This record gives sequence, C-alpha cells and structure tokens, in this order.
Amino acid sequence: MSGYTIAVLPGDGIGPEVTAEAERVLQAAGQRFGITFTVSHFPVGAAAVEAAGDPLPEKTRAAVRRANAVLLGAVGAPGLEHAPRHLKPETGLLALRALLGVYANLRPVTVLAPLVDRSPLKPDRLQGVDVLIVRELTGGLYYGEPRGRDASGSRAVNTLVYTVSEIERVARVAFDAARRRRRLVTSVDKANVLEVSQLWRETVTAVGREYPDVRLEHLYVDYAAMRLVSDPAAFDVLLTENMFGDILSDEAAVLVGSLGLLPSASLGAGAGLFEPIHGSAPDIAGKGVANPIGAIASAAMLLRYGLQLPEAADAVDQAIRAVLDAGARTRDIAAPGAPAIGSREMGERIAGVVLDERGRRKAERGTDAHPSVPRSAFRVPRSSDIP
Ligand code: NAD
Repeated sequence: MSGYTIAVLPGDGIGPEVTAEAERVLQAAGQRFGITFTVSHFPVGAAAVEAAGDPLPEKTRAAVRRANAVLLGAVGAPGLEHAPRHLKPETGLLALRALLGVYANLRPVTVLAPLVDRSPLKPDRLQGVDVLIVRELTGGLYYGEPRGRDASGSRAVNTLVYTVSEIERVARVAFDAARRRRRLVTSVDKANVLEVSQLWRETVTAVGREYPDVRLEHLYVDYAAMRLVSDPAAFDVLLTENMFGDILSDEAAVLVGSLGLLPSASLGAGAGLFEPIHGSAPDIAGKGVANPIGAIASAAMLLRYGLQLPEAADAVDQAIRAVLDAGARTRDIAAPGAPAIGSREMGERIAGVVLDERGRRKAERGTDAHPSVPRSAFRVPRSSDIP
C-alpha cells in the first residue's frame, strides 16, 4: 500500500467547510485504491493570525515543506481588510505560494452540460467551452518591489517586473499542455502600453518557436476579457501573467455558473498547492451551504498532478460528474426554487460514488430535478491535458 502526507490548510470562512468535504472524498479514493493519506491540518490566513499572530506561521511553513502535496481552502476575513500588510490573510497566501515556488497556476474551465442553464450566458455560446488558464503565480505586480505607501499616505507604488526566465518556464507549461489538447496557446498581455508586456510577448514568441506544432496567438488583455464571454470556445490554453490571470480566471467562472465549481493546481519544482479558486465567502460562511465541488475537484488535481495517481483522480472527477448528472445541486447552482443540498451532503454523495459502484447507483437514484445528460457532453480535463 502506498502512502502520502497531505498538509491541509483549511483557512478562513468557508475554507474549512469545503476542505472537509475534499478530505472526505480523498479518503474515499484512498480506501478504494489502497492508498494511505496521512492528513494533518495547519492554520493559514486570518485563522493563523488569530492562533499565532502570523498569516503563515512557522509550524505551517515546516509542514508544507515536508508534505507531498498541500490542499488549501481559502483565506480572507472582513475584519482584517485594513490590517497592516504583515497581518493580512492574503499576505500568508502569497508567502505560501512563494515558499513552495509554485510558479504555474492551472485553472481548467469546462462547462458542465447539466449546468448550462446556470450560466448567465446563452447556451449556444457555451458549446464546446474547454479552456485551460495557465497563470504565472509567483511574479509580477503582486510580488514586485518596491511597493508600499509613502509617509504622507497620499502616494502608493507597486512594481510590475518579470524576467525572461520567469516567462519562459511558465510559457513552456502552457505549450506542453497545448500539445496534449487542441494545440492553441493564446498569450494575453498589454504590449501596446507596458514594456513588461513587450518582454512577455517577445519571450513567449521565442518559446513558441520550440513548438512548431502549436499555434500561438497574442491578445491584449482588454480584448481577451471581452472575447472570454463573447466567444469562450475560441480558447484552448490561455497563458497570462499574475494579475491578468487573477482577473480573467474569475471572469471565466461566469461561464460555468458558480465560483464554487472551479479547481486549481499550482505547480513548481516541489510539492504542489491545490485550492478552489473562490475566496472565503464570508457572506455564507458557517451555514453549511457552500459548494464543495471546487475543493473536491482540486483534490482530484492533487491526485493527478501532485501525486501522479490518474486512476484515483479519474474516479473523483467521474464521481463529481455522476452526482451532478443525477441532479444534486448546492444552493449556488440550483435553479430558482429548486431543492438544494448542503456542503456535507454533496461531499458525502461524491465520496459514496468514489467508494464503489453501489454509491454510483445511489447517486443516480438521487434527486431527479435535472435529467441525466449524455456523459460525453461533459468533459473533465484529462490527465494528458497538463504536463
Ligand atoms: P469570494 O470568492 O469569497 O465570494 C464571491 C461570491 O461567490 C460570494 O457571493 C460567495 O458567497 C460566492 N461563493 C464563493 N465560493 C462559493 C462556494 N464554494 N459556494 C457557493 N458560493 C460561493 O470572493 P470575495 O467575496 O471577493 O472575497 C471574500 C474574501 O476572500 C476576501 O477577504 C478576499 O480577499 C478573499 N479571497 C481569497 C482567495 C483565496 O483564498 N485564494 C481568493 C479570492 C478572494
């Protein structure tokens, strides 16, 4: 029996609620495939400021360095919005990404056929949407120095900086991924205004020459933002820098109908970091209604890209699909007036399907508000999609 150490950082708000369900599903996958997951919890974000006066305490740092993979919930608390920077929950998140050296953030956005009616976009716009956003994660404006407010408080500065090697390594992740998909990379920048974007464009173009079988196109970020909602099926792999990627990936969440559905994997040289793309959602925290699917799908990415366990990852992705096909909906994805289940029940149903075929049949007997759709209509990212 193989074994892995997983550090779970539940974080704040709905973070603990959704990671609990991801953990439940992870353990179900372990049980089914004979894998031992040794899971320990460590604080991050506002929870860590409260517990240890630091949004990424030394104990958490030591644990993530030792772990085979890290599963994160979300950070952020309304009370700490105006705290000094070293006490902000987001400072802990940025420090965590830097500590792990996870420079490539992968965010698959696939429109799920049973949820097409949950998107504000017209169904015909959503046909065939399957985008992989590759966002640079440890450079750019969020990390550049100098930064800060001057003594008067009336002037502030941030620095946008990228080096050729930072751009090259994330570009290679995007081109390698495109090779396993539809062989198109759309690189997004603002090269008509920013020198950093000009370097980005030149460097991506040079890397692209190593991949003559992959088509490369460049878009300015403003046009890319428009195209992402007007013609989302035109994208295969969308490669971009840190802040543009942050914004565009939230915009892409509109395509699937809820922020609560989308997972992410952040990869570098060592252990990967896996987290849903949503934040701590203080408006619904503690109510047990958060959608855990983004966190559970992040656990599937952990299995696939963090631990190279594609069979277990497939089982989790298929279980999510089966449960949605059977009509299970949390509040954020339920049709108006339709019944909704809570975070825990959604997690239990998905874990049940992962465990065995009996679970799958049980899921299929569940609420039938949404008729089953052909499985082929729903494509989860494949193990071969991403290097
Ligand atoms: P958010 O993602 O927390 O919430 C936006 C909206 O989406 C809210 O209405 C929320 O209820 C809903 N939502 C989010 N996740 C959901 C889920 N799983 N199920 C159902 N509904 C869900 O973004 P926000 O409100 O802008 O930010 C709240 C806090 O989270 C802030 O402190 C912010 O800094 C932080 N944040 C953290 C991360 C992270 O940890 N990676 C990312 C984004 C925001």
